[in-house]
Amino acid sequence: APVIVWFRDDLRLADHPALSHAVASSGAPVLCLFVHDPRTAPSGAAQWWLHGGLCALRDDLSRMGATLHVVRGDATVLVPRLAQQAHAAQVVWNRRYDPQGRETDTTIKAALKQDGVAARSFAASVMHEPWTVRTRAGDAFRVYTAWWRAARAMGDPPPPLPAPGQIAGAGTPDGWRAECVGIDALGLLPVAPDWAAGLRATWHPGEAAARARLHEFVHDDMAGYATARDRPDLPATSLLSPALHFGHVSPRQVWHAAVCDGDGAAGTEDHAKFLAELGWRDFAVSLLYEQPELVRSNFRTEFDAMPWRDDARDLRAWQQGRTGYPIVDAGMRQLWQTGWMHNRVRMIVASFLTKHLLMDWRVGEGWFRDTLVDADIASNVVNWQWVAGCGVDAAPYFRVFNPVLQGKKFDPDGTYVRRWVPELAHLPASRIHCPWTCGPAEAPRGYPAPIVGLDEGRARALSAWRGLSGAT
Ligand code: FAD
Repeated sequence: APVIVWFRDDLRLADHPALSHAVASSGAPVLCLFVHDPRTAPSGAAQWWLHGGLCALRDDLSRMGATLHVVRGDATVLVPRLAQQAHAAQVVWNRRYDPQGRETDTTIKAALKQDGVAARSFAASVMHEPWTVRTRAGDAFRVYTAWWRAARAMGDPPPPLPAPGQIAGAGTPDGWRAECVGIDALGLLPVAPDWAAGLRATWHPGEAAARARLHEFVHDDMAGYATARDRPDLPATSLLSPALHFGHVSPRQVWHAAVCDGDGAAGTEDHAKFLAELGWRDFAVSLLYEQPELVRSNFRTEFDAMPWRDDARDLRAWQQGRTGYPIVDAGMRQLWQTGWMHNRVRMIVASFLTKHLLMDWRVGEGWFRDTLVDADIASNVVNWQWVAGCGVDAAPYFRVFNPVLQGKKFDPDGTYVRRWVPELAHLPASRIHCPWTCGPAEAPRGYPAPIVGLDEGRARALSAWRGLSGAT
């Protein structure tokens, strides 16, 4: 009887424990399945990535002798039905940890059990599963530094598994033919307008491209990471976040590549900092696992009374990169055009929205969810709450980023701003982060004046925050 491997956020062949288990299962034929479930499907830019990731997986599987079967609909109905139709002995998958995904998987596991089909799940998309890193008292950590210390004390995560040499694929079962659709039929690509040109020019979804980028990063770019990672004008970070989100590469593969292959980097500050950033990804997953309500709710409940502003014009200016603050606008335009934004700039634009514009972090989180190719429920929510000051281990709300000083510090020559805000390209470095100080001859055309004064926005935010009972 065949084994069904249900692919989800693990679109790869290497270090895929569910696939390896199926292949090793006494030569049983393997049925590879992807369910496009509208309830858990990504939106916007991440949909575009999913299309490319599925095509790459289909081609990689086909080279190994297997077929990727794609179906569309409610996974809780489809997976048990397809298992019955295929007379499958087992359905296997790699675990996910977000609230919606867990609920779906629990329901499906119960339904399969009732039908007499075995279900087995494996750890693959994090280095440390949420329940494995605990305080001495057995509780979950709430502070990253303590979580990271405990995680490091557990040693390196297990080494990644190799891709199977060959997959004994099974033909499409009769009952499946009516359900299976082509990847194009999922409608993941934009039709009109085609907003994905910048994405196509920037990214190559799929396992092969992710592995190549990982190799390039650990060999060529990891040196200098500890300091250069904060500079959006330099190509200093791994750019692996979308590949990690869709599982073209696993965090264990990234970890071991950094530890073993990083030429001379092992044990350096660059190396330690990179591993610690990778740790943040797991920590975000574990926070959401412990408190699923964080998806929508402030961890610090005093923020429930925050008088967030609802101003459609200011929100549009932020979304379109027309706030009048060059580093904010550069970041928002980089996001719109490429589906990605540098981490330092994500912090700056999030601070600007939640503090200078006094808008709810959930509004910004929603915009990021639609526009990021790496949009990830745990990383997005946890980081937004961190910047907004209402999260578990958060920056205090009163620490308001000054976008001019941030720009001068982290984009000192203005190279990043010049790239994304061409109206300002002619300005010297001394003026590029504060174009309103230019004389009439230099003044940029078509670039807006600041939509809020720096002091005015800061004072308004701090006064709103001081009005909250329990604000500290
Ligand atoms: P690198 O610096 O090369 O880091 C390596 C990997 O570590 C990343 O690919 C990522 O998986 C992980 N990582 C690094 N920093 C963080 C972090 N702060 N939190 C969690 N994981 C981290 N990241 C997402 O993957 N999806 C999101 O939806 C997302 N939303 C964010 C929203 C805000 C407001 C902020 C401030 C940050 C957000 N991040 C998110 C985290 C971070 O900005 C990106 O992971 C990072 O910029 C990706 O670039 P990179 O792969 O070159 O990172």
